[in-house]
Amino acid sequence: MTKTLLIRNADIVVTMDDQRREIAQGSIFIRGNVIEQVGPGNELPQTADEVIDASGHVAIPGLINTHHHMYQTLTRALPAAQDGELFHWLTNLYPVWAGLTPEMVGVSTQTAMAELMLSGCTTSSDHLYIYPNGCTLDHSIEAAQEIGMRFHAARGSMSVGQSKGGLPPDSVVEDEAAILKDTQRLIERYHDAQPYAMQRIVVAPCSPFSVSRDLMRESAVLARSFKVSMHTHLAENTNDVAYSREKFNMTPAQYAEDCGWIGHDVWHAHCVQLDDAGIEVFGRTRTGVAHCPCSNMRLASGIAPVRKMLDSQVPVGLGVDGSASNDGGHMLGEVRQAMLLQRVAHWDSLGPAALSARQALEIATLGGAQVLGRDDIGALKPGMAADIALFDMRQIGFAGALHDPVAALVFCTPSNVAYSLINGRVVVREGRLTTLDTALLCERHNRLAYELAQVH
Ligand SMILES: [Zn+2]
Repeated sequence: MTKTLLIRNADIVVTMDDQRREIAQGSIFIRGNVIEQVGPGNELPQTADEVIDASGHVAIPGLINTHHHMYQTLTRALPAAQDGELFHWLTNLYPVWAGLTPEMVGVSTQTAMAELMLSGCTTSSDHLYIYPNGCTLDHSIEAAQEIGMRFHAARGSMSVGQSKGGLPPDSVVEDEAAILKDTQRLIERYHDAQPYAMQRIVVAPCSPFSVSRDLMRESAVLARSFKVSMHTHLAENTNDVAYSREKFNMTPAQYAEDCGWIGHDVWHAHCVQLDDAGIEVFGRTRTGVAHCPCSNMRLASGIAPVRKMLDSQVPVGLGVDGSASNDGGHMLGEVRQAMLLQRVAHWDSLGPAALSARQALEIATLGGAQVLGRDDIGALKPGMAADIALFDMRQIGFAGALHDPVAALVFCTPSNVAYSLINGRVVVREGRLTTLDTALLCERHNRLAYELAQVH
């Protein structure tokens, strides 16, 4: 018999279903890895193989992180890269990252995932684009399997080094034929196209300023022949736009279109400087965007036109981005920043109405699911994967805000979860990760971080 689990009597269950119902005194009945029933507690079964008493808690669909570089948790707050914009920041960090080892990839993936899971995130993408010293994407995938997070592993790549006019040093770029061959190997070995898949592969050249036009085009052909999604960075700041105009005589959106990088199976990180014509194309073709507000503020890249994107039907998800430009990986915190930053952007027009707490939560759940090309996560309703985050509202940070507990989650100090379920498995219980020891992980991670900072 498949195991059943009942989350009973949450103060509110935020469903993100078609009616956006918020159910008071709500329960969720789960069989195996799938949600079977959601509704008022008195209408659902009263018992199950396991019961979690959710009184005093709010339940939301697990948050979805659509952009990250998990290895960068090893180089958070590095003094040499604290105060530079994107290109300056990158050129200071590339030589450090060249010291990355397979062990570092595995440990940093788990550190980043632990931080995300404790903050309410249940699905994450990761964009690994640097493979020195025998590192491969297998090392992150194995780490994700161990910690139990739903994972879209993006096979990043860089092929145009400084000697060919690119930004990264020649020592960290790869041969293009080898990139495509390894990407195909990963798809064939790990990609699971079935519903409730715990691992999918994404084809993901790093950015227009670190790969060739050929690689962009051939990556798109490869991805589409296997029906896997595509991801890269685009229009991150004005230097990025200037590079595109100078090198390709096109805006970033025109270049993306020229290379076949638009469509419902593509999502681009940042798009801070996406122009109106680009927004129109993205909306019409349902090309997705990973909005990363903290990173955009940290690197002073600007404010992404998220309100305009949403109004133009562009699918928008949220991303914490790499930990060397955030430097936190708190997903609920990112939801809060997304809301606040759009309000700043519209200070002289829409004002605070530019983005509400519920709209920001929707971006981080339904929006993320759409961007990753999934219809089995992002909402709490029958038939969806059992990915659920529970927040205890009886904390000091929420005191006085229970007039509207759902809004309180976003407006108040970002909280960690009390419980989290991924694919029906309890991965956080009473605030603690159940799948590995976080104290040991921190110790190991810090040792590797010092080692990496010293090698270059
Ligand atoms: Zn990034």
